[in-house]
Amino acid sequence: MVSARRLLGRLAYGARYNRVPWGQRVYVRPGERTLREAQWRWRLRRSPVLSLEEYQANVPLGEIEEFLSCTLCGETSQQPLFQPTGGGKWRYRVVRCPSCGFLYRNPNVRPERLGDLYATGYSKFLTGKYAANRQRRYNLTMQAFSPILDHGEGRRLLDFGCGAGLFLELAEQRGFDACGVDLSPDSVAQANERLTKARAFHGAPQDVPEIAAGGFDVITLWSVLAHLPRPLDDFTMFRELLAPGGVLLILTVNAHSLLLKAYGSEWSGFTKNHLMFYSSETLPRLLRRTGFAGVGYVPSYGDTIEAGTTRLPDSLRERLRRTVEATDGGNMMRAMAFADDEAIIRWGDRLDIDRLRDVSVSKPPLDLTGSAGL
Ligand SMILES: [Zn+2]
Repeated sequence: MVSARRLLGRLAYGARYNRVPWGQRVYVRPGERTLREAQWRWRLRRSPVLSLEEYQANVPLGEIEEFLSCTLCGETSQQPLFQPTGGGKWRYRVVRCPSCGFLYRNPNVRPERLGDLYATGYSKFLTGKYAANRQRRYNLTMQAFSPILDHGEGRRLLDFGCGAGLFLELAEQRGFDACGVDLSPDSVAQANERLTKARAFHGAPQDVPEIAAGGFDVITLWSVLAHLPRPLDDFTMFRELLAPGGVLLILTVNAHSLLLKAYGSEWSGFTKNHLMFYSSETLPRLLRRTGFAGVGYVPSYGDTIEAGTTRLPDSLRERLRRTVEATDGGNMMRAMAFADDEAIIRWGDRLDIDRLRDVSVSKPPLDLTGSAGL
């Protein structure tokens, strides 16, 4: 596959883009955006839509797995699109909901078996060489969500899926009254060694009294959303845990990514433990159903562009930015979900907000004529 792709690239573009990293070429080569979007539409047209029964009949079910209907809209039909594999170690299937466009792993992992994925060795993955990169990315993320994470004094923050506490460490340095939860017990132990004021807990938020009490000004979900098998339950809980004026900040792989359109099953967002893949088209449905008032997005151009360490010349950097913005196609999605109107007023002034509650529908107009029910 890769060599055929290389050959085609060479035929079309010569050697001009050879020094541009693969993850950026799709965004900067002229005409590529149009080609990839056409390729995506073609993929959707030629992939059959099956009933859940037809789909189940032909797909093996692993011991810790279950078949799902669309979590966001309830649609049972399945459009099989991808079969990501990890070097022979794992393999799963990704379908698209033909009604709302949601991409999800099906069969999915049964929630009660989720711990199996994180039981051992996961904390090693979260620290070590990975840690420095990760903390650098957190700094870029905090900057992108500015001013929400700038000053923490007197504000409560919950990092859901806090891993080894790398972000909590930054949050406590900025003065937040911070805590976190994670499924991996070794990660939580490491986090508590690292932290001075903030605390990490193992298990579910409702089992930890200081978290269950709620009143959070910020909840963060860094590379966690794609791992949640029951997002409706989790988001209902997040909404309840937020204080008035609170925001939920999300960083996840972007199902609108131009790289997904280009690489299909080999897309970097299809990692071993990812279960569901959101975009700005499907996330609002989840947020609306769980009581959030609005959502806004901060485009993601990739770490090297944002950190200023890219070697791309200015003209290509500009082209990359334009492609990301025009296609909503950065490889990561950064979203902020507002608990209520107060949160939108406080934090949403520079953003294009997608309002999720229609006031005229949620509050029926007073009927002054006395003819109600006739
Ligand atoms: Zn759906």
